[in-house]
Amino acid sequence: MPETETLAVVRLKPGQEDRLRAGHLWLFSNEVARVEGAAPPGCLAKVATAGGESLGLGFYHPHSLIALRMLAPGVEPVDAAFFRRRLEAALAYRTRVCPGETSYRLCFGESDALPGLVVDRYEDVLVLQVYSAGMELRLPAIGEALEALLSPRGIFLKNDHRLRQLEGLPGECRLLSGSVPERVQISEGGLRFWASVGAGQKTGHYFDQRENRAYLRPFFPGRTVLDLFCYTGAFAVNAAKFGAKAVLGIDSSAAAVALARENAALNGAGAAAEFDEADAEAVLASFAEGRQPFRPDMILLDPPSFVPSKKHLPKALRAYAKLNAAALKALPPGGLLATSTCSHHVGREDFVGMLRCAQAKARKPARLLALRGQACDHPILLAMPETEYLHFALLEVV
Ligand code: SAH
Repeated sequence: MPETETLAVVRLKPGQEDRLRAGHLWLFSNEVARVEGAAPPGCLAKVATAGGESLGLGFYHPHSLIALRMLAPGVEPVDAAFFRRRLEAALAYRTRVCPGETSYRLCFGESDALPGLVVDRYEDVLVLQVYSAGMELRLPAIGEALEALLSPRGIFLKNDHRLRQLEGLPGECRLLSGSVPERVQISEGGLRFWASVGAGQKTGHYFDQRENRAYLRPFFPGRTVLDLFCYTGAFAVNAAKFGAKAVLGIDSSAAAVALARENAALNGAGAAAEFDEADAEAVLASFAEGRQPFRPDMILLDPPSFVPSKKHLPKALRAYAKLNAAALKALPPGGLLATSTCSHHVGREDFVGMLRCAQAKARKPARLLALRGQACDHPILLAMPETEYLHFALLEVV
């Protein structure tokens, strides 16, 4: 019997339908009046207003704060053909907006109408991250659809994210199909990078900064660049290849620093770029104390998220401001600071406000040369502010 014939019905409390009608894809548990029928974690369910009007189909989870993730406005089978149609549309979009690229985020969950599913393409290898029980249960169909669409060498599940616990899903990294090497060489903007898909951070490479790396290229010539939080050197290698006089990359992860060195060598930039395993804040403090022989006139700051949840936002903004102030202090007049945050809890206004506060704190008035976001393979679903998470600014010390 097709799965859609015996669906449970999730009935909303009165007046709770507006956000879904506007295009948001999540229904929270406190907005549900009752569930009619058997509804185990990850099952398909119909959604209906208090008045009985149908709003469509979604994945339901009885124990998650996100009780339901919308999939479709009508009722349709959620099978390999369904996933193939959605992934085909996602691929067509990337082919259009990432010309010349063969590695990118192929599917950005909710923004590609596949809530809880991330697919990153590393040439002929696919790396998946699954955040919802509904998607987890349908991995065979998703795998089948991806095979039909791209015939990848292998599909790897990088399912170690803490958010999975919220849906009762185990943390695990394993092969879904085919074979996947420990690391994959990809191309980005004409440069080559090794990405460690099994042991690396995220799925191995930060595709979300691709356009910001390319944007900075005209600013690199003649600069002495300090790339703090450099990970595997994607920004640093761009700097060295596009005219920087000297580049120093800093990261606290020994594995990341080792790969950054290899990435510099891979692009023939080994002489211009050096990398050190160190704490970024300690490095900035050593500037304040005048202990640094390296004198940057351009600093790149791309720290991990400081905001584990909404309630940590004020504290996190103070920490970001402190870090940015320390970087601005280390720059001479005319110096450039390219700085980012990567938490959806930080809104664009919060980000700009934090930078205003940092330049005041550092007594380094600055011009805002650019305000940018995540690359276009991470599209923002306007109705879902949660899908916007990366802010990037270029500041110039006046
Ligand atoms: N700019 C990188 C991505 C940075 S991700 C790119 O474009 O690829 C954030 C990085 O910060 C991670 O590599 C992590 O290892 C590093 N990190 C976290 N805490 C740190 C600290 N205190 N000092 C230096 N690096 C740190």
